[in-house]
Amino acid sequence: MFLMWIIPLLLIILVVYAISGNGLVHAFKPISNRACPQCGRAAQNDWKNCPHCGQIL
Ligand SMILES: [Zn+2]
Repeated sequence: MFLMWIIPLLLIILVVYAISGNGLVHAFKPISNRACPQCGRAAQNDWKNCPHCGQIL
């Protein structure tokens, strides 16, 4: 029967879509989730000072 194999196939597609969707979310995220409190620009996690304004991070 047609539905016998289309349901597990849909489940597999759903799982693959969920995994790839999470990957896309990570891909579109900025490299850093920190921002300079002074100028608001993105800052790397290992930066000690903001390269744009010199603010200590
Ligand atoms: Zn700054």
